[in-house]
Amino acid sequence: MEFYKRIWILVFLFCFRLLNGQVTESDLKKHVEILASPEFEGRGIRNAGHKKAELYILRQLNYARLKPGNQESFRQEFSFKNVLVTPPFNHHIVIQGDTLINFLDYVSVRTNSAKSKEIVLYAAVDADKIKTKKDEEERKAILIDDVDEQILNTLVMKGFNYIITPVSSDEEFLRLKEINESGIIQDISDANLFLIPSREYDMYYLHPKVYTELKHQLKIKQKKAFQKVGNIELPVKKKEINANPSNLLALIPGENADSTIVISAHYDHIGVINNQVYLGANDNASGTAGVLAVAKELQKYANKNGLPKYNILFAFFSCEEVGLKGSQFYVENPASPLNSTIANINLDMIGNEDEQHKSNPNFIYAYGPKGKSEFLMHKIDSINQESNFLTLDFFENNMQVGNKFLRLSDQANFIKNDIPALFLFNGLSPHYHKVSDRPDKLDYTKMKNVCNLLVALIKDMAYDL
Ligand SMILES: [Zn+2]
Repeated sequence: MEFYKRIWILVFLFCFRLLNGQVTESDLKKHVEILASPEFEGRGIRNAGHKKAELYILRQLNYARLKPGNQESFRQEFSFKNVLVTPPFNHHIVIQGDTLINFLDYVSVRTNSAKSKEIVLYAAVDADKIKTKKDEEERKAILIDDVDEQILNTLVMKGFNYIITPVSSDEEFLRLKEINESGIIQDISDANLFLIPSREYDMYYLHPKVYTELKHQLKIKQKKAFQKVGNIELPVKKKEINANPSNLLALIPGENADSTIVISAHYDHIGVINNQVYLGANDNASGTAGVLAVAKELQKYANKNGLPKYNILFAFFSCEEVGLKGSQFYVENPASPLNSTIANINLDMIGNEDEQHKSNPNFIYAYGPKGKSEFLMHKIDSINQESNFLTLDFFENNMQVGNKFLRLSDQANFIKNDIPALFLFNGLSPHYHKVSDRPDKLDYTKMKNVCNLLVALIKDMAYDL
């Protein structure tokens, strides 16, 4: 008898889990269509649409009866200052008397640290062969054929603050130009380019033709691994962009809890560039809609079944697209102490798929760094196997790529603070940072599955189901 009772309890619990993941496609679609509508202007931090997105999220949190997550307030305001080197179209650099123009000869990415006008320029074929004396120039520039993440780290370590490198093709140059013309200096994340949030260097991507000519003019000897080639003049005139964005924080308080799970998504996007609105439906209206839906579901569940064991904090970060600034501010001013934050689960782009998963779009990367975060991957895996929401990809075959992606969104700031993190992400889709990232390109069934899996995961963690 005892045995059958137990079986029934198990069957009951199983069905309970299934029936209680009730995020619906129509809810998600409604959120995305509003957040990624033209009126919201791509939610760029300098566009009025950013504020509209903020108000929309706040309204939804109120409807769902969530509690403010920042003491009495849902808002966590911060100021954002970005420095732009002159208007981007007038931006130029001079290499040995030769003037190169931004967007014509090169694209400058996040140039904000030009401190002195004339800087010694080196050229290197092999970054490992670089020898510079200790007390040589404080800031140095380098021309280099090819840069990957490892080389970049080496260069920064050896004191190179200005890195000048060619892109591979005309097409790549145009793409970079398109992304950067807004004047907001952005992080570019792509298979070929990369991002280090705490940045101590500026990148100048040269047009391949310009690079070939320049090498010829500077008489760079291909055989020599490292050489001094002259001077480069970088502009020092700066213009500041100011914005006063807010992170939005909502809470389901835990029962006598001092531990917190943070579920997050950034709600900003890149805004309007050259009069074109980048709607950012997948990046990241999808994740924002997901967190809104999950919050509503978990609040409903808490109303019926009592408070969770842990505080569940829902964080909608701003300024992700300009260098993960919102989450950086959050970890510097956490609403709940970091040493009792047991996990961050971050949703960024959950409605598309990458090239590798074209034939099985009902998948999601669920990835965290090795070590402390692994329990999250195990947990989500076993819950998913039980209810078969979708296929999970843990970057088993390509951890390096997985680790690179971890730096691309807000979980990076939690990981830096040694907090276990899980990144739910669909990989880089063809619509990434393009005008084509529109609501009609999203797979709402898949988004629903991701959300319901997340709901089941949190219930498992916070209710001992
Ligand atoms: Zn994003």
